Amino acid sequence: MHIVACVKQTPKSDNVKIDPQTGCLIRSGTQSAMNPFDEFALEEAVTLKEQVGGKVSVITMGPPQAEAVLRDSIARGADEVFQLGDRALAGSDTWSTSYALSKGIEKINQLEHVDLIICGKQTNDSDTGHIGPQISAWLQIPNAAFVKKVVRVEKNSIVVERLTEDGSEVVELNFPCVISVVKEINKPRVRSVKGRMLAKRVPITVWTADDVQADKTKLGINYCPTRVVKSFVPKREVNAVAVEGANAKEKAAKLVALLKENKYI
Ligand SMILES: Cc1cc2nc3c(=O)[nH]c(=O)nc-3n(C[C@H](O)[C@H](O)[C@H](O)COP(=O)(O)OP(=O)(O)OC[C@H]3O[C@@H](n4cnc5c(N)ncnc54)[C@H](O)[C@@H]3O)c2cc1C
Repeated sequence: MHIVACVKQTPKSDNVKIDPQTGCLIRSGTQSAMNPFDEFALEEAVTLKEQVGGKVSVITMGPPQAEAVLRDSIARGADEVFQLGDRALAGSDTWSTSYALSKGIEKINQLEHVDLIICGKQTNDSDTGHIGPQISAWLQIPNAAFVKKVVRVEKNSIVVERLTEDGSEVVELNFPCVISVVKEINKPRVRSVKGRMLAKRVPITVWTADDVQADKTKLGINYCPTRVVKSFVPKREVNAVAVEGANAKEKAAKLVALLKENKYI
């Protein structure tokens, strides 16, 4: 089975700042690492490879320094790594990002048929959770989000349990398909010494938009359909009022009067 894991380099800190002028993340001065949910995506890919055989490829879209997450992926058990790195991709929104990734996956598929694509549930910077489902839409293949368990792998399909709002459900998806995983799915392993050594010297394939035959009018800040109109840190306001009273009855009466006064009831 050929599995492609999608990993993104994100800031290590949760305290991500946004440039108010451009609406983009301020990356300088922040330490980066593999997006936490992508550790689970990659771990599941490597575990499945160990169970049923095959190969794990990893793709990231990001600037030159994103190479670090690809080397880290090798240390964690991936076999081959690909980077989409092109100025034309800068400032892409989720629609453009998923389009570019789907073109990269198509190119990987041309090299060796892809069965399964695994994404994390979401990132810790932009946090949308769009990318997995959008990749499946671009590629017109099935998708399951919030996957907490791989129940079994069949010859032509995979059976997974996914979280729903009121519990979970078991679904079967024909290959090729996309799943996005939650952190309950596994416990990422510690990087092996052999893996770390290999990571240092592994060649990284870097592709431009042209290399993956992406339509440049779908890419980057000038073409993506969404615009960051304004970004700001919400002002913290504490307007709480403590309702005093001798007993619960008196406090309740004062509370009702206060709600009426402010036209809430
Ligand atoms: C108008 C606009 C402009 C933007 N400009 C910038 C910008 O200049 N710089 C910037 O850093 N961000 C920018 N963003 C944010 C950027 O679009 C998102 O970070 C990106 O599309 C991924 O979305 P997400 O982080 O919400 O991923 P999610 O959908 O939350 O991620 C889910 C999963 O998809 C996979 N995934 C997500 N992103 C990648 C990736 N790049 N490579 C591989 N796998 C991935 C991972 O497996 C991840 O766990 C912009 C957004 C908008 C709307």
